[in-house]
Amino acid sequence: MTEEERIAKNARIKEKGKATKLKRKEQVCRVFRLKIDFSHLNNAQADALKMLFVEAKWLYNDVLTFMNNHDINDYDYKVKTVQGLDKDKNTVMRELEYLGSQMKQSVIQGIKSSLKSLSASKKNKRKTGKLKYKSEYNSINLQQYGVTYKFHDNNRLRLQGIKKPVKIEGAEQFLKQPGIEIANAKLLNEPDGYYLAVTTFQNKGSETKKYKSPIGIDIGKKTSITTSEGKKYKIFVGETERLKKLQKRTAKRKKGSSNRYKTRKLLRKEYQKLNNRKLDAANKIVHELLEHEKVYMQDENIKGWHKGLFGRTVQHSVLGLVKIKLLKNERVVVLSKNIATTKKCPNCGKINKNITLADRKFECECGYMEDRDIHAARNMILLSEENTCGTQGINAFGEDVRPACLSIDTVMAGRPR
Ligand SMILES: [Zn+2]
Repeated sequence: MTEEERIAKNARIKEKGKATKLKRKEQVCRVFRLKIDFSHLNNAQADALKMLFVEAKWLYNDVLTFMNNHDINDYDYKVKTVQGLDKDKNTVMRELEYLGSQMKQSVIQGIKSSLKSLSASKKNKRKTGKLKYKSEYNSINLQQYGVTYKFHDNNRLRLQGIKKPVKIEGAEQFLKQPGIEIANAKLLNEPDGYYLAVTTFQNKGSETKKYKSPIGIDIGKKTSITTSEGKKYKIFVGETERLKKLQKRTAKRKKGSSNRYKTRKLLRKEYQKLNNRKLDAANKIVHELLEHEKVYMQDENIKGWHKGLFGRTVQHSVLGLVKIKLLKNERVVVLSKNIATTKKCPNCGKINKNITLADRKFECECGYMEDRDIHAARNMILLSEENTCGTQGINAFGEDVRPACLSIDTVMAGRPR
């Protein structure tokens, strides 16, 4: 390539990048985590999948060694053999049989960005270490859809370096959506199996979904989330007996012993399972709530709970996850915590000042009576309307999303009888 051609090529890449950036602004980004069905792999596929991560590790470590005497930009990303150390610390040469050139590039690119952030921290006078050799490589970036990976159909995935598609679960949830664009992905090696985390883009508003009527949610500090429709979600995912047993067992093992290492590996797997269960529970709650056109909630200080009153139990709560996921959605409206959602009677409008935290029921002179949490959740919808001249009704993106006019009948319509 001549110098002129190189400049022209770079300009083209830059233009393309700009165009993509503009397009992305009008799109919603979603990441889907799909599990690779290990039980349906044949031996050759299982070996290949395993070797992708092993070879990525070899390559990573080889680049680090290379950097002792050279500039990383001089590393040949088309490398076929790398140098490493065997168990007895003898130098050995290793063939890269499975890792495609795109994957190789992404490993090297990963090191480059680590170096970049290291030097940035250094500039900010933060204490920095240097890159260390890896004993495990657990996440491979798959850059170009269609090259490094491709969905064969709803249940099968083609991966560069692996013969025949592998079986995968959960792709149908986005493959069928209109105008969905599949971008890069990460191939993950986790204690309980292999996963693919796929990034997708879809034009805003292209989802032709019909929403249910607005809903309010009251976030109980102790046990649950209550909706204005009277549904309660449990927010705790408990530790299993096995986890507790493994924790005890690890503590007993001698430090540095291979038994301790083994038990810790089992423990990691158990924690991963717990996390997956939490994630599933959170996803389910969020999915159901977001079926509604608007979700009203009050800003609660979740962080504080960790330290405070409820201590340990909060660690097993999925509330934090639910809140993070909800706040990412533009249809979620956060009301100020100063709005008294518990005191006002939706029926006659009287403010009942004598309602305390201990009261499980809201009762008004006018005869209106309701479970306290349901009452609060329902009031969130009503009060967000009343505050149309105030500053409330701002969603997580700072946009004004106050409803035009919601009558008490609309709110009451969703009430269980
Ligand atoms: Zn009343």
